[in-house]
Amino acid sequence: MSRFWSPIVGTLKPYTAGEQPRIANLVKLNTNENPYGPSPKAIAAMQAAVADTLRLYPDPSALALREAIARTYGVSPDEVFVGNGSDEVLAHAFVALLKHEKPLLYPDVTYSFYPTYCRLFGIEAVDVPLNDDFGIDIGDYDRPCGAIILPNPNAPTGIGLPLSAIETLLAAHPEQPVVIDEAYIDFGGESVIPLTRKYDNLLVIHTLSKSRSLAGLRVGYAIGQRPLIDALERVKDSFNSYPLDRIAQAGATAAIEDTAWFDETRHAVIASRDRVSGALRQRGFEVLPSQANFVFARHPDHSGEALAKGLRERAVLVRRFAEPRISDFLRISIGTPEQCDALIAALEDIL
Ligand code: PMP
Repeated sequence: MSRFWSPIVGTLKPYTAGEQPRIANLVKLNTNENPYGPSPKAIAAMQAAVADTLRLYPDPSALALREAIARTYGVSPDEVFVGNGSDEVLAHAFVALLKHEKPLLYPDVTYSFYPTYCRLFGIEAVDVPLNDDFGIDIGDYDRPCGAIILPNPNAPTGIGLPLSAIETLLAAHPEQPVVIDEAYIDFGGESVIPLTRKYDNLLVIHTLSKSRSLAGLRVGYAIGQRPLIDALERVKDSFNSYPLDRIAQAGATAAIEDTAWFDETRHAVIASRDRVSGALRQRGFEVLPSQANFVFARHPDHSGEALAKGLRERAVLVRRFAEPRISDFLRISIGTPEQCDALIAALEDIL
């Protein structure tokens, strides 16, 4: 505490991001990055932006990027909002759409930025417990609330919901904004973007950090009907009218347009995920059914803490979470086939 702090600072519980170690030869499977790297066309577009245009301010409306996203999903550019990572898009959604007199609902095990934003923005929230299989039961959200936010697939479990379940939720809460955070949707989940046509309470949020392998660039976007997108624009223009620099706009536009690279690399991740899940199960792990670029797994005979420590000693970095119900699970990001082999070899050595 310092006497210079405003009263809110002492009440914050900031999000702790996964470690970004300086040691180069670690097998880094702790922050759900994509091992294949961005589209070569995106890299070329960013190099051109650096060479030619940094003297100028970027387009505050990022129109070329919004048009590329709109073409990809069959929506109109004014139904697309872009921001500096989906964390920023989420922050604007919390302020613009999720702050109500009645509480916001989200799962008790979920992306830990949600409670962080609630503290920062003074939003009352209620945690809805996951079921015994660590899944989300949509019926549990059938209660009075101001708004709902769910990741699909959920993080850090990786378990996805079918479109029909989310449609049930949207229909049951026509007066409440429902935000679906699809950060990991491209690894086998069913996107609800088509439902934005039908439901004016739905906002879908995506990131270029995972399936487009651009975590370092910081680009995310939201898709929804005009009134929701306008709300996000109003918050953005009250905060930072240039959230995406010229390099980010050029790289993200080219990455969205390179569907061949996108499909090839995400399918490689899906294939490795299924192989890693099988290999872990063979070695006695319980592995939750993942539709993401990570698996969430625990072993009946070894604590999560011991396994993570043993892996670290063998130069493999994975993520653990402190909440008691999930503290024995490891969240393991899917790397290249060689990195996955190194993970399995290290676990064999430990078990
Ligand atoms: N939502 C979920 C569920 C996530 O796991 C993450 C990644 N930590 C994000 C959003 C944020 O991603 P980014 O800010 O890199 O777009």
